[in-house]
Amino acid sequence: MGGRMTRTADHGGGVRSLRVPIPDNPLGHTLVYVVDTDRGPVLVDTGWDDPDSWDALSEGLAACGTSAAEIHGVVITHHHPDHHGLSGRVREASGAWVAMHAADTAVVRRTRQARPEHWFAYMSAKLAAAGAPEEHLAPLRTPRSLPGLSPALPDREIVPGELLDLPGRRLRAIWTPGHTPGHVCLHLEEEHPAGLPGHGRLFSGDHLLPEITPHIGLYGDLEDTPGVTDPLGDYLDSLERVGRLAPAEVLPAHQQPFTDAPARVRELLTHHEQRLTGLLALLGTPLTPWQLAARMEWNRPWDDIPYGSRNIAVSEAEAHLRRLVKLGRAQAVPGTYPVAYTAV
Ligand SMILES: [Zn+2]
Ligand SMILES: [Zn+2]
Repeated sequence: MGGRMTRTADHGGGVRSLRVPIPDNPLGHTLVYVVDTDRGPVLVDTGWDDPDSWDALSEGLAACGTSAAEIHGVVITHHHPDHHGLSGRVREASGAWVAMHAADTAVVRRTRQARPEHWFAYMSAKLAAAGAPEEHLAPLRTPRSLPGLSPALPDREIVPGELLDLPGRRLRAIWTPGHTPGHVCLHLEEEHPAGLPGHGRLFSGDHLLPEITPHIGLYGDLEDTPGVTDPLGDYLDSLERVGRLAPAEVLPAHQQPFTDAPARVRELLTHHEQRLTGLLALLGTPLTPWQLAARMEWNRPWDDIPYGSRNIAVSEAEAHLRRLVKLGRAQAVPGTYPVAYTAV
């Protein structure tokens, strides 16, 4: 097992997990699940595309008594690189199929076609429209190469509500848009191996995590049309959907497995309701998305938030604004550019 600590866990009933590190990220690792089927092991997510992460995946699979070459298929919860990054390498090693929801596959396809200079121009225009100051926009004028621009193109589609083709298992796709447009949770409709009460087990990806709130921003799509998508609204609907499933246990992609999904769903719904109420109070005076982001509560003061995280924070502020506008609780101030919003 070498010097590295290989940590795998046996969740019973032919399901194991292993930890694949995410470099330079406070989340630490992705939990990759190995599900036994009659045709060989199937992975739920693969982990970040990095040499150390690949070694950890390989060592974890060995500790589970298998190898990348033996993988029959790969089921991806969503297109983010900490979930989909190593899918291409697993497919090369094994010939496994890779399955993803069509909405996230569309993002992958556009990412593969995007040239870095287009991406920088798009980000710069988007942030300017959100009211970002000149010093924030300046670095975007000198495009550099970008990592993760060539994610593997999936070869199978995950169809919401349908069982996946996993011989000997019952794994049903539950579409849970919000964190990404094509995020899915996967419901293993089999009795819990330890007899815990509830309905099977749920691989929840980033949709439902035990201790952190997943990022909900605008979908970050070059083709996003203002006012059309409502990621936060999608997310809240998706939360209620998985709460109603009442799985006996949740197997998330980060942190650790947990029970009582309906309670966690209620916590998250309350959190977002309180956040929206707090934002309405701030919108007593007209604010651009950038100004709103700078006044919102984060895990540290705005001045200490690094560059990349500010972009994520602005996207999150925009998603909340879009929800408030949809609910008729906020509106754009006519004639302003960057557009300012105010409570109704
Ligand atoms: Zn994610
Ligand atoms: Zn993630």
